[in-house]
Amino acid sequence: MYGKASVRDAEWWAWHGERSDQALNSQTEHKKTVVAGASRIMVAPRERWRPVHDWQITAPLRLNPPRNGYPHAVVDYAQHTVDIARRNVAEGGRPFATVIVRDGEILAESPNLVAQTHDPTAHAEILAIREACTRLGTEHLVGATIYVLAHPCPMCLGALYYCSPDEVVFLTTREAYEPHYVDDRRYFELSTFYDEMSRPWQERRLPMSHDPREDAVDVYRFWQERNGGERRVVDAPWSEG
Ligand SMILES: [Zn+2]
Repeated sequence: MYGKASVRDAEWWAWHGERSDQALNSQTEHKKTVVAGASRIMVAPRERWRPVHDWQITAPLRLNPPRNGYPHAVVDYAQHTVDIARRNVAEGGRPFATVIVRDGEILAESPNLVAQTHDPTAHAEILAIREACTRLGTEHLVGATIYVLAHPCPMCLGALYYCSPDEVVFLTTREAYEPHYVDDRRYFELSTFYDEMSRPWQERRLPMSHDPREDAVDVYRFWQERNGGERRVVDAPWSEG
């Protein structure tokens, strides 16, 4: 079972990073650790994940990858999102995934890589949005549908607002997954996080202070001057209503 999964994973890694041997080796090694029944799941060191990040920046645009040798095989994007998240959990990652689709093509997809990279912002939504926008050379994902395993956290919800997709499809609610997964931190519980965001800054649990500097506002005046007197970012889609 693991041998077969390793080969499939290697194909996925090969497509992402063009590094099939390294991918196969690291995946196999990692699986052995898990199979050996280690009391704490060992996570691949950061270098092993680097091909994914290198690919995100340097690889040429190539849509709808021939995953498992069958181009255009992915039609149930929701199920595909579940599959990516499930595989991530099997590999010691967290239970989240994002798939970004436009015109029947997958623009980008990612599992949550916080456990693998120690980057607290490496949520699946953030990584997939970054990948899609970097590859397409735009900060706007107008026309795209974004599939996410769970209703997004406030950070990702913000990122989803910023990239203007046509629709976000979430596959579980916080209430549904909370009996099985909790990610509360020093200044929030998932159940209070959204309310915390809407509070005045003085009332938030995250300690914040305001140090007003006129020089700081001057940076914005300078930007507006360089932007032909316009306040808006050029080409940003905004609400008609
Ligand atoms: Zn998130």
